[in-house]
Amino acid sequence: MHETKTLKEIQVSNPYLSLDSEFYERVKPTPLVKPHLIHANKTVAKQLGIDEKELESDTFVKLLNGEFHFKGAEPFAMSYAGHQFGYFVPQLGDGRAINIGSINKLGLQLKGAGQTKYSRNGDGRAVLRSSIREYLMSEAMINLGIPSTLCLGIIGSEHGIYREKTETGAIVCRVSDSWVRFGTFEYFAAHGLYPELKALADHVIEENFPHLKGKADPYNLLFNEVLAKTARLMAQWMSVGFNHGVMNTDNMSITGVTIDYGPFAFLDDFHYQNICNHTDTKGRYAYINQPAVGKWNLQALMSAFSYLTPIEGLRQCLNFYDLGYVRYTHYYMTKKLGLERTTKNDPQLIEEMFNMLNTLQVDYTVFLRTLSHFEYKDNREELLKLGLYHEPMNSWLDKYDERIKDINATERKEQMLSNNPKYVLKNYMLQEAIDAAEKGDFSVVDDLFKIAQTPFDEHEAFERWAKPTPKAFKNQKLSCSS
Ligand code: AMP
Ligand code: MG
Repeated sequence: MHETKTLKEIQVSNPYLSLDSEFYERVKPTPLVKPHLIHANKTVAKQLGIDEKELESDTFVKLLNGEFHFKGAEPFAMSYAGHQFGYFVPQLGDGRAINIGSINKLGLQLKGAGQTKYSRNGDGRAVLRSSIREYLMSEAMINLGIPSTLCLGIIGSEHGIYREKTETGAIVCRVSDSWVRFGTFEYFAAHGLYPELKALADHVIEENFPHLKGKADPYNLLFNEVLAKTARLMAQWMSVGFNHGVMNTDNMSITGVTIDYGPFAFLDDFHYQNICNHTDTKGRYAYINQPAVGKWNLQALMSAFSYLTPIEGLRQCLNFYDLGYVRYTHYYMTKKLGLERTTKNDPQLIEEMFNMLNTLQVDYTVFLRTLSHFEYKDNREELLKLGLYHEPMNSWLDKYDERIKDINATERKEQMLSNNPKYVLKNYMLQEAIDAAEKGDFSVVDDLFKIAQTPFDEHEAFERWAKPTPKAFKNQKLSCSS
């Protein structure tokens, strides 16, 4: 179990290649010029059984740069389709990500490793800033208890990449229990490739849902499980104040993990209509719309699944989405408010809290962390000063005070401090790490990585990041290349 291996000893498998050639293109990574290590994730290395010392080796940089291949590696890019901003695009695929093998059922992928046949007009690259965002954010999500793809490491380079200006290329080695997206199913359904669609569903069951094997109507059960995982993920995103920004169906994982980090944001000030994606002019992917978009995306997946199992059964599953989402939300919010269980009036208390925060537009993370230290009939000053005026919060706190009256104060505080992070990686913090990194200083990346790994802990040195976002940096929109 604890045995680790060197990179040269590791043998990978490629279960996806047992599928037909329509599913992928075999393609080798194109290395970046003058690569250098920025950061390696020891926790992920351990999960993969990679010896920690290997992370400092040249071979590790070569692995991330696609110059060293694991034993048994047969690199490939996956084909998929997807609904982008509501419109169906029949051919997408890994245009800049190349799969390099699976270890312990986890698939490794190099993002930014060059062109594939799915690149369309893209250069197959990822810039340093977007790679740093993905690297840090996936670690932050995991440690907040939110399912996500992971990153084993990140390299930078002197490879020039042109976006709005010349930048440098980077590669992250991403890790996930599956790289199959809702859009992968949509691809085969839309092209009338039904035997392949069935083979895909069987592959997903084999790899990720083996308990469904041999069951009656496994495809209906699979859809049901994907639906439950998606409802749970949406509830987790909402409860922590995460806005993904590009919830296209090709960015929805079949195993319900957060995937494809782009112009995402942790809310600065709480605002239902928060939009973090610069190109999302209509707010399709605004914070408040995420649960409904999750359902919309499941409906697109349902259309694909309707070639595998009767649609009536799938519709019945879909009808449970709203209830499932609400139940998960109450579960997470009950913990965050330090309540032992959800009682009859709690859903209203939770909703009123969100409405109050939306009215006042106070910093979501800071509010809940401060509330964690609040005691029955406590002084409200510290909370009230987060908002411009007092009335909405005061009247909510009256109700909250009443609710916590009989709850053990120590237990409540303990529960809240372990469910309300002191630190989330807001965009201004990530930008600070990026600005320094672009000058060759990766110390802020290191600092944010520490925070990402221990978001519920106190860190004296990083106290300033636990304060509301400075006004000039609040609620900024980012582009899709972020
Ligand atoms: P994303 O917005 O990163 O989820 O990407 C959407 C689609 O565009 C995916 O199929 C990507 O592989 C592709 N894509 C994004 N950026 C590039 C790029 N620089 N080169 C090639 N393909 C890209
Ligand atoms: Mg994507």
